[in-house]
Amino acid sequence: MSTAADKSAPTNSAIVTDYKARTPGSATLFERARKVLPSGITHDARYLDPYSIHVARAVGPRKWDVDGNEYVDYFGGHGAMLLGHSHPAVVEAVKRQMELGTHYGSSHELEVRWAELVSELIPCAEKVRFTASGTEASHMAIRLARAWTGKEKIVRFVGHFHGWHDHVAAGATSHYDGGSPPGVVQSVTDLSILMPDADVEAVVKLLETRDDIAAVMFEPSGASWGQVPLPPGFVQAIREVTARRGVVMLMDEVITGFRWSSGGAQEALGVTPDLCILAKIVAGGLPGGAVAGKRELLDQIDFQVQAGRKREKVSHPGTYNANPLSAAAAVTALTLLRDEDLAEKANRTATELRAALRSVLVEEGVPWGIYGDSSTFLIYPNPTGENVDPATFDPLELGFAKLKGAKSSALSGKIRMGLMSHGVDVMGAPGGFVSATHGGAEIEKTVAALRATVRALKAEREIKAA
Ligand code: PMP
Repeated sequence: MSTAADKSAPTNSAIVTDYKARTPGSATLFERARKVLPSGITHDARYLDPYSIHVARAVGPRKWDVDGNEYVDYFGGHGAMLLGHSHPAVVEAVKRQMELGTHYGSSHELEVRWAELVSELIPCAEKVRFTASGTEASHMAIRLARAWTGKEKIVRFVGHFHGWHDHVAAGATSHYDGGSPPGVVQSVTDLSILMPDADVEAVVKLLETRDDIAAVMFEPSGASWGQVPLPPGFVQAIREVTARRGVVMLMDEVITGFRWSSGGAQEALGVTPDLCILAKIVAGGLPGGAVAGKRELLDQIDFQVQAGRKREKVSHPGTYNANPLSAAAAVTALTLLRDEDLAEKANRTATELRAALRSVLVEEGVPWGIYGDSSTFLIYPNPTGENVDPATFDPLELGFAKLKGAKSSALSGKIRMGLMSHGVDVMGAPGGFVSATHGGAEIEKTVAALRATVRALKAEREIKAA
């Protein structure tokens, strides 16, 4: 059986051979790409050995690669495409805006409407500042928390991802011990206090005994959109202690915003943070992000308010903040999402999908797990041979190292290639995002693809019976 340390694709695998045979156009593009792009890709999460597919177009829940293969898409634009690909109303809005100008260097009505919609939907959003990405929103939110409290430390949690800037780099996808990744200086890394999220009592104690903490920052789904779920009561306990200690509660809703519910995880959980960050769905499938939260925190960016407070304002430029194309897509998408409760629709489909995939594992006697919240699903492929019953699988029993380790195993790569050869594209976890356009036909195709893939893996002795 493959181990987590062995990430390279086996050369004697029928699954890999089949994948290569179906994707010669992607292989050719990859050869060109690797000469000019590191690893031939533009985002670390798109890495696949021997190469990943090159996609030519996408509509609704489906996409097609350059070789004409059709896929049910669960990458979902890294979670951005809750409305599905190329939603006709969003396409129309962006086309219209294109002719009216893509950058005015001035304020415009769409950005006002966009902020009004965010404020209407997201409970904590008394005020909003747009950015060009989730990473930028994360950076700004941390700056706001530090400026407000006058304190430097940020409590973060092992495996929780908040973008790629230096202040959140350690402990997100590597360096879980708090060491610095290459290029990130240790003194910046040391400004984070990295905690495991499994022990919320330890976090409460930490906040009760220290006076140098500006914010507690976390993904309300648990690490990496729920690959490692949070223990029950975590978010409520953090709310209670941060309120009591005057620490900023910073909820990263880049994934969960408008997905866990139309008001995000904060609405679904009934817990309102002081600040949240949004991206992906917030910009309707185009680039964009936002920091939203309490008026007094956001007003640190306000010229007049800060002058009145006799405090220096927090600086925030950004060429593409609230650019008209993203604003046009966003206003259309958020209006549809609100009026048709698309988050709830996707949640219902994902619940059905998870049950159907679980049944495949039970019927095929495969000791893996299916899990995930809201409109996500995750496959735990059990690369280390844990004692798992697919019918009763509970990810919380496995803990961080096993759940995260499974993601980077060579077995996960084979699962992805097997599923792709049967017309389904999932993310590396393996797992992905369900959109409001996925339905019965997509579930059926995914079920057939998983069944075929586990049978192929059994033939390659990658799965032992449950
Ligand atoms: N936070 C979370 C929870 C995310 O999942 C991501 C992106 N995957 C980010 C922040 C960063 O967003 P972006 O990629 O837009 O910079």
